[in-house]
Amino acid sequence: MATKTHPFDPTWLEALTEQFPTPFHIYDERAIRANARALQAAFAWNPGFKEFFAVKAAPNPYLLSILSAEGFGADCSSLPELLLADRVGILGESIMFTSNDTPAVEYRQANGLGAIVNLDDISHIAYLEEVAGLPELICCRYNPGKLKAGNAIIGHPEEAKYGFTREQLFEGYRLLRDKGITRFGLHTMVASNELDSSYFTETAQLLLKLVLELSTELGITFEFVNLGGGIGIPYRPEDEPIDVAALGQSIQSVYEEIIGPSNHPPIKIYLECGRMVTGPYGYLVSRVLHVKHTYKDYVGLDACMTNLMRPAMYGAYHHISVVGKEPAPLDHVYDVTGSLCENNDKFAIDRPLPTVEAGDLVVIHDAGAHGHAMGFNYNGKLRSAELLLRESGEVVEIRRAETVDDYFATLDFGGLAIFEV
Ligand SMILES: *Cc1c(COP(=O)(O)O)cnc(C)c1O
Repeated sequence: MATKTHPFDPTWLEALTEQFPTPFHIYDERAIRANARALQAAFAWNPGFKEFFAVKAAPNPYLLSILSAEGFGADCSSLPELLLADRVGILGESIMFTSNDTPAVEYRQANGLGAIVNLDDISHIAYLEEVAGLPELICCRYNPGKLKAGNAIIGHPEEAKYGFTREQLFEGYRLLRDKGITRFGLHTMVASNELDSSYFTETAQLLLKLVLELSTELGITFEFVNLGGGIGIPYRPEDEPIDVAALGQSIQSVYEEIIGPSNHPPIKIYLECGRMVTGPYGYLVSRVLHVKHTYKDYVGLDACMTNLMRPAMYGAYHHISVVGKEPAPLDHVYDVTGSLCENNDKFAIDRPLPTVEAGDLVVIHDAGAHGHAMGFNYNGKLRSAELLLRESGEVVEIRRAETVDDYFATLDFGGLAIFEV
């Protein structure tokens, strides 16, 4: 069982909200660093191991620099994400560019930065060559189809839009080889938020075996296999977290079993996790505005689905603590809502909580990945601030809250007849 605790003292948090009005996201640097080190240690057996943090999970320069300092690279999937990685000093082959349905300008940018290009489709070989030229190191994304079961967030592989089929991989690497490419990687990403660690060991097995087949058939060798992201986190109190050290060991066994006896040169293991890196160490802090009793009991927050859309989008569970009332019995049942004009704007449905009153602070857990990042402006909602709790205990604002001026910044009122007085 994961214990759902947060690092905030109620008085301290209340004082913080005087300086930074709710809602805000706050990240715990100490915990992020400790977790990053545990991941590095779990794969220390593999020379060249690298985790490319999935930038989309938490695209903030402070967080990226912390992770970069811990030895992580960046997994990018768009032009702004590429520029963000570059701006924080994550350079060249420390960037993995895993995109799909990719525009030419993004391939040109990725090549320009010297990023590792991970192709999503066989047709992109010709496309990349035409629009940006072929880089010296190329990776292809494998979609194992029926050979592997998926899960709810990413869907079944054979219904997922991503990647090459098995046959296309053989054809694709042959084509690349014949065009003079000599440096290769192989990638797959078939699940998201997966808590069964054997899933990742099986993925490693699948990819490493495939590397040997491709290598034998085509006379090429691979520098790395990228097992993708998707390591889950215990959102629910009853969930078991993945034991990263044990996962590292079981992937090591698979590696030694498959690659050990072969004459293939050593292969680097790459990961591109987002959620497990920052997810549990980011919190959405919000204040209760109203408590409403109609056919059900509702707790209305000053945050809404635009601050954290996972519950409304996937029916995802996010644990909620009522600050200062953590030890109290959970003797009430509430829907915890935001203020969007959408009835699915709920952080929780039928959630047992202590008695909640207007003015209470709540901490919504596990908002450190795919949280603020998925924010949007529907209903004129402004994106909230992001704060960082430093190891020293100091809090710094690492992204200011949006203002009405930001919301209006892309609008042009000038051309409207009504303004031509
Ligand atoms: C979203 C994504 C990731 C990160 O997924 P997590 O579930 O956050 O680990 C990694 N790689 C690709 C290609 C993705 O689309």
